[in-house]
Amino acid sequence: MSKSDKHDHNAAPMVDEISDFEVLEVAVRELCIEKGLFTQEDHNEWTEYMHTLGPLPAGRLVAKAWLDPEYKQLCIDDPVKASLEVGIDWINSMPSKFGTPSDYCNPRILVDTPTLKHVVVCTLCSCYPRPILGQSPEWYRTPNYRRRMVRWPRQVLSEFGLQLPEDVEIRVADSNQKTRYVVMPIRPDGTEGWTEDQLTEIVTRDCLIGVALPRADRKADDKRPIHKAVHPYGH
Ligand code: FE
Repeated sequence: MSKSDKHDHNAAPMVDEISDFEVLEVAVRELCIEKGLFTQEDHNEWTEYMHTLGPLPAGRLVAKAWLDPEYKQLCIDDPVKASLEVGIDWINSMPSKFGTPSDYCNPRILVDTPTLKHVVVCTLCSCYPRPILGQSPEWYRTPNYRRRMVRWPRQVLSEFGLQLPEDVEIRVADSNQKTRYVVMPIRPDGTEGWTEDQLTEIVTRDCLIGVALPRADRKADDKRPIHKAVHPYGH
């Protein structure tokens, strides 16, 4: 008898239950392939492409706008054109060359001020500006976030560790199939004289969704140092 056989508990299932949406996705995908709308190879290429995307271009867009008022105005007036300067072509960069109905859309940049804080949600499902921000974090897609952010934004932001003064108005932007939002936060103190590269590093994904504020001492999510867990009882 091997060591593992002596365990008297049942192993946890390797995969959680498959949701109705996943069943629907597989069914529609297989039907599309069967009808010749696209091939399995197209789908693989698309999926791999989507997983190469991340929040860096949007971070750079914000950094550039902090340094250049004319570029900031372009971000407000024509975000598709402004995105080209950070290497994102909303129209032609997709493997399909024409985007998808859900990704070629109407991006908007929401500019925070000292008295106005924007935060983004999709109450209906999970709409997100993927071409410039990558895949959405898991919490963004949860019913908890989607339902509560629109009702109690100040409370939910405080759960993210963002306590805003009462005189700061919070405006929640609800994404939809065509309109996708990116938040442009205020440039933080302590970044005077910084280069565009330095500024880009502190504009994290969460800052671009609006649930965090950039700080001079906190770099982008994937570069944060990992601290060892400390035993709560001091052992
Ligand atoms: Fe959605």
